[in-house]
Amino acid sequence: MKTLRKVTIKPVFVEWMPDFYEQGTVYISREHNCSKHLCLCGCGQMTIMPLDDGTNWWRLVENGDKVSFIGSVGNFSFECKSHYIITDNIANFV
Ligand SMILES: [Zn+2]
Repeated sequence: MKTLRKVTIKPVFVEWMPDFYEQGTVYISREHNCSKHLCLCGCGQMTIMPLDDGTNWWRLVENGDKVSFIGSVGNFSFECKSHYIITDNIANFV
């Protein structure tokens, strides 16, 4: 199911992570330095991204209503093996 494509994401800022996740939405908690989303390939696996200044984890960059993450997302433990980079609300599969 590995595909090379672009997927537009919707960033949603929350304090606490929700009980239900919508596909294509990236939930971001500044308070808890964490971001979660369902794998953007559509397989539905939960992808958890701890945030920091980019030293050990991902760095969140906000540009108006667009978000980028410094550091690629590699879901190599999932069956889909998806790998993408989120820049300005677009996940570019690599
Ligand atoms: Zn996937």
